[in-house]
Amino acid sequence: MKAALLEAPHRMSVGVQPDPELAPGHVLVEVATSAICGTDVSIWAGKMPANIPVIPGHECTGTVARLAPDVTRLKAGDRVVLNPVTACGVCHYCLRGLTNLCLNGGLRGREVPGTFAEYVAVKETEAYRIPDNVSFAAATNFVGLYTVVYSQRKAPYIPGGKVAVIGQGSSGLLHTQLAKVSGASSVIAVTRSKWKLEMAQRLGADEIVPAGEVDPVERVRELTDGFGADVVIETAGSAQTIVQAYDMVRPGGAILQFGIGPLAVDGVPVQNYYFKDITVIGSRAGLAEDFDRAVALVASGRIDLEPLITHHFPLDEIQKGFEFVEGGGDGGTLRGVIQIGKEG
Ligand SMILES: [Zn+2]
Ligand SMILES: [Zn+2]
Repeated sequence: MKAALLEAPHRMSVGVQPDPELAPGHVLVEVATSAICGTDVSIWAGKMPANIPVIPGHECTGTVARLAPDVTRLKAGDRVVLNPVTACGVCHYCLRGLTNLCLNGGLRGREVPGTFAEYVAVKETEAYRIPDNVSFAAATNFVGLYTVVYSQRKAPYIPGGKVAVIGQGSSGLLHTQLAKVSGASSVIAVTRSKWKLEMAQRLGADEIVPAGEVDPVERVRELTDGFGADVVIETAGSAQTIVQAYDMVRPGGAILQFGIGPLAVDGVPVQNYYFKDITVIGSRAGLAEDFDRAVALVASGRIDLEPLITHHFPLDEIQKGFEFVEGGGDGGTLRGVIQIGKEG
């Protein structure tokens, strides 16, 4: 099969790789689209350890092409999205249902072969049917949405609450949409980017805060009667925005730390845990049930994934695609995808 191979940081080739083998319990998926996610870019840039040389990619949609004889959950021709993480099913955490914390798991395109390839073989339990009303390219966002669903399930106060979402990249926009759908009384979108604020508004944000023009902490306080937000969802992952979240949350409120920040952040006001009695919630990947919820949210038309895809590249131009995304895109970039199959 044709596939990309990351040979060294910043060096990708496209060539012929062995077809994946179809082990018992596995399905062979003909890849349609695989998105370029921030994690892929970190691996590509050598900032995140990986089993190089590796076929990169982990946010993937496609069609079930072949099944092992014992597969019962899926059939040939099913349109699916793949769980980006593998889990062993038998370790301490898997046995407790916490497959996102599997001791023997890995990320496709990092520890195990990835999805910038014509075919990928996965356990039948790692592929989820996607609704017909969403394109293969947009459906790569299910991988983001299931993590957003998982994290908001862990957050209190969203129904009826005032929710500030810092950062309006693809994850932030999904958080904005989901908080609104989940019954937040007010969703406040915070980012420097004007066009992302406009998109946030179109996707349901009640208030927008242009962080480059106003003090976002002050503005969120004004919008919450001086108290601060019931929940602050931090998706930008920068040291500055992480510290801002502590000043933006009301006493007794909660911070959902979704953005993958640096190892440690100076200036985190640890005393606020006591004096403001706040709750800080972490979140890593998600569970199988979160894919089911994500699919139901999109199938019912409550969440729109289509606007999040802004750029398409053919597999042969994957190097160009990564350089483009790593360089920050063209000022109107949310998500770029690599088009591998015929259908978008
Ligand atoms: Zn990803
Ligand atoms: Zn495990």
